Parts: sequence; structure tokens; C-alpha cells
Amino acid sequence: MKSKSEIVLKGIPISPGILIGEATVWRIGEIHVDSRKISVEEIEKEIELFKKVRDNLVKDLELAKVDLPEEIVKLIDVQISILKDVELEKQVMDLIKEKRRTAEFAIYHIIGQKAEQLEKFGTQYLKDRAQEIRKLGRDLLKGIKNLEKRKVREEDKIIVTDDVAVDEAVEILKRGVKAVIVEGGGKTSHAAIIFRDYKIIAVFGVENATKRIANGDMVIVDGAKGLVIANPQDATLAHYQKLQEDYIKYEQGLSEIKELPAATLDGREFVLMANIDIPEEIELVKEIGDYGVGLFRTELLFYSVKDDEERQYEIYREVAHKLYPFPLTIRAFDIGGDKAIDNYYERNPFLGLRGIRLLLQRKDLFRTQLRAIMRANDLGNIRFMIPMVCCHEEVVETKKFFLKVKKELEQEGYKFQQPKFGIMVEVPSLVFVLDKMADMLDFVSIGTNDITQYTLAVDRKNPRISYLFSHLHPSVIYMIKYVTDVGRKKNLIVDVCGEISSDPYGIILLVGIGVDELSLTPSLILETKKLIRNIEFKEAENIVEKALNLKTPSEVKSLVYEYLKERAPYILEFYE
Ligand code: PEP
Ligand code: MG
Repeated sequence: MKSKSEIVLKGIPISPGILIGEATVWRIGEIHVDSRKISVEEIEKEIELFKKVRDNLVKDLELAKVDLPEEIVKLIDVQISILKDVELEKQVMDLIKEKRRTAEFAIYHIIGQKAEQLEKFGTQYLKDRAQEIRKLGRDLLKGIKNLEKRKVREEDKIIVTDDVAVDEAVEILKRGVKAVIVEGGGKTSHAAIIFRDYKIIAVFGVENATKRIANGDMVIVDGAKGLVIANPQDATLAHYQKLQEDYIKYEQGLSEIKELPAATLDGREFVLMANIDIPEEIELVKEIGDYGVGLFRTELLFYSVKDDEERQYEIYREVAHKLYPFPLTIRAFDIGGDKAIDNYYERNPFLGLRGIRLLLQRKDLFRTQLRAIMRANDLGNIRFMIPMVCCHEEVVETKKFFLKVKKELEQEGYKFQQPKFGIMVEVPSLVFVLDKMADMLDFVSIGTNDITQYTLAVDRKNPRISYLFSHLHPSVIYMIKYVTDVGRKKNLIVDVCGEISSDPYGIILLVGIGVDELSLTPSLILETKKLIRNIEFKEAENIVEKALNLKTPSEVKSLVYEYLKERAPYILEFYE
């Protein structure tokens, strides 16, 4: 028999770790939808069918919640609330009644429309939401057609699937599956968050995985690199077996430094903080240790609670209380750019009405969020931060509005503490006037994703020019250094919350620059601490000095590479 040839597939790294084993492949495939017109007599029956199938699915989801931690229960509740949405029910019933279509067609059509509306905006976050809605739609269709739901079997250890719904992610978690390879999905899908938080190795966005990998194929999953290798040759297998052993040892080593400070060998200490996208991630942060949050992105809340002060207040307060006495840095809605809020066309959305620009034009939304944030600060550990600031005037106007909202709340009798006030430094123009606005600020946080995009004029999401996008560009490093020096002179805390804080090359430079805080993905906090504990501040400072005299990101990378090779070779083994 001819042995199968080795296939290497690349995807998005979601959750690190290495696993070698047999694949179980899940494919939903197309479900045929009956689109005929029904008779008047059939209307009631079709409506009943829709309601029965929907209620059954809700029941299944309710059952799935048993024994699960609170943060996952909340994710399932989101799915339940989509299914129970009155507008969805009305639209489906109208289509059945008024257009006399089958229940399955009505579900297919309405769900499809909802998903398309979200997909149209082109952001990965909304695409992830759309995919979740489509998955619920497929589950409803399966209910109507009496098709089996996918179940994890005892022996399944690596699941390869076209997509994965929240309830399936829960099943995967409960049944002890070790690794998941998914064709669709992105970093912000709820399933991705569950896998990351519960350390299930995962690679998403692996195109055609379910077609190229067959049931029973031997696969290697490398979650740190986002790599999947099917039917490996002997040499590949041997290499990964060794890597897997090393990785396990490395992970065990990480738990040993849990209680130790993020200090260099020569004693310079750094504050590590977490970046979170949804409130539920706070549980993971707590599990890792005593850390604050340097960036709570609120865009995911925007779509569900932007007009709801009470709900926002409850969410912010709950997270702040869980973190106390460590700080919670809440960033005002960074809407606009690729996260559009309406259908308004902009030629250059990333240079358009985004972040603080939009909030200052939509004070209704801004006021609601600010009121919720201030009221939530009864313990005093909340920091408030504004995104996409380009100019002095924006800071003046925002600070004025901030103080006005504070006064309004005090007059209404609310008791709270004034949150610390800070800005994101992510537009180059701001860097060189920062010292002149320092008296209005308590802290700054450098968003290297955007400052790289705007310094190099490279759209951070455009794959055609991604070879130009690098936060290791000497100009970017220079700006971080410049901001840090201003911060030191003006007594401002300097945090860095872009992706550079989770990049081993970037971390060496940030240490050498001497920023105060690095804020990053929670699951990489301990790894970052380990790296900092392996290096010397003085040496890192030297590297920065040299880097500032180089011409290109690749020269900077080579410079740091030599240092990593000497001080932390394991990093190169796992992440290169
Ligand atoms: C950044 O720009 O670096 C940042 C942290 O913000 P976001 O990635 O949310 O734009
Ligand atoms: Mg940004």
C-alpha cells in the first residue's frame, strides 16, 4: 500500500502546545433546504415545528451549562439569547405566515441575512459572530431534519472540523479532547477564547483542513506556530516528539515562577498586565496570578450594550472588583476604522472617523460609557483610556467632558472615585507633542499595532503588504523610546499594550527601553516573565542603543536573535 505523503497546513495560532495523534474529522457539509411554498393549512404546523426545534436547542444548551464555570455559562447564555431573540422569532414567523415558506427555509433565510449584515463590515470580530449565528442556524436546520448532533467519542483526542460552535467547544472541553484544528474562525471567536483559557491546543483558519486530513490520519498540531502536519515523515515525527517533550518541561517550569517577580537578572522589575477582550477572561487572569488589566477592549461589548448604562456599569464593576487592588484599564469604545457602526462609506476608514474622533461626535454613546465606568469605580482601581488620539485638542475636549460627566454624576448623588485618565499613543503625531499635554494625564499606553500601521502607512490587516508591517521597525522603536523618556520626565506611567508586548523580540527591546508596564495576552504572561527573568537590563539597554542605529526591521530582528540565542534559546525552538 502506498503510504500517504506529508502535508503541512498553516493557520492562525490560537492556543499553544504540541500534540501528536490520530485525527477525528467532523464535516457538516451542505444541508438541503426545502424552499417550496406551503399551503395555508401548513402554516401552523411549520410555526410549531420552528418553535419546537428552537426550544429543544435552547434546552440542550441549558443542559450543557451544568457544572461549567461561570465564564463559559455566560458564553452559552449569549447563544441562548440569540435563539430567544423576539425579533428573530418574529422575522421567521412572518416569512412562514406571510410568504408561506417552510420553517427550514425561513430559518435559513433569516439567519443568513443576519450573518451577512455582520460579515459586511469585514472585521474578524464580526465575522466570528456571524459564524456563530450561522452555526446556530445549522443546528436549527439539523433539528428540523432530525440529523444527529456531532458528539465527541471517548477515543477522540484531536478534532479537525469545518467550524466549532460554543456548545461544541464545551463538549470538547468536558470530554478531554486535547487539540482542535478548525477551518474557519478567528482569535475572537468564543470557541477560541474557551480553548485558549482552558489550554486546549488549537489552530484556527486552516483552509480545507477537513478535506486534506482524513479520519484516522496521524497529525501533529503545533499551537504556538499555528501549524498542522498530517502524515508526517519519520524525521518530522522524531523532531516533534522531542519538541513535545521539551515543551511539556518548559510549561512545568513556568508554574515554578508563578509567584516570582518579572525582574531581570540585574534586578530591574517590570509590571506585567493582561489584555482582555471580554469580561469572562478575567477568570483566566486571576488564575495566572496577581495581575492588573492594561487594556480592556470594549468593542465586543459595544454591539450588545452600547446604549445600556446599567448593564455596562454592572460589567465594569464586576471586573474591577474581581481585580482589586490591581488596576483595570478600560478603553473607551474604539469604534470606526474596520469596526464600523453604520453603513456610512469612508474612503479610508482607518484614517477616518475612528476612536475618540467618533466618540466626540457621538457624545450620547460616550456619555453612557463614561457614566458606567465612573460609577463602577467605587474601589478606585479603574483607569480610563481613550483610543486613536492624534491631537492636543482631542485630549482637552475629552478631559473637559470627562470632568463634566463626573460632576453630573456627583450632582445625581452617586458615590465613586475619579478614574485615572490616560490616552493611547497610537498616532505618530501625538508622540512629539505628548510632553505638552502631560499635565492632563495620569498614564499613557502605547498601541504598537496602530502606531506601526500609521508610522509605516501599512494597513495592519492587508495581507498583500503584510511583509512591510513590523513593530520592530527602528522608527517604531524610536517612538516607544521617545514616549518612555517623556513619561519619565513628566511622571507618567508608560504602558505598552500592542502585540509587541507578546513578541519575544519586542520584549527584549521594551525591557531595554525601560517601559513601566507590558500588557499582553493573559496566556503569555508567564512566558514573558520567564524571558524577562532570563535577561539583563543593562544588556537589553545596549541592544536598544544599537537597534536605534539600524535601518530595517530585519536588521533589528537579527540583532535581537543573537541575544535570544544566548539567553533564551528555548524561545527560538518553540516560536520560530
Ligand atoms: C494597538 O493599536 O496596538 C492596540 C493595542 O489597540 P488595538 O489593537 O485594539 O487597535
Ligand atoms: Mg489600536
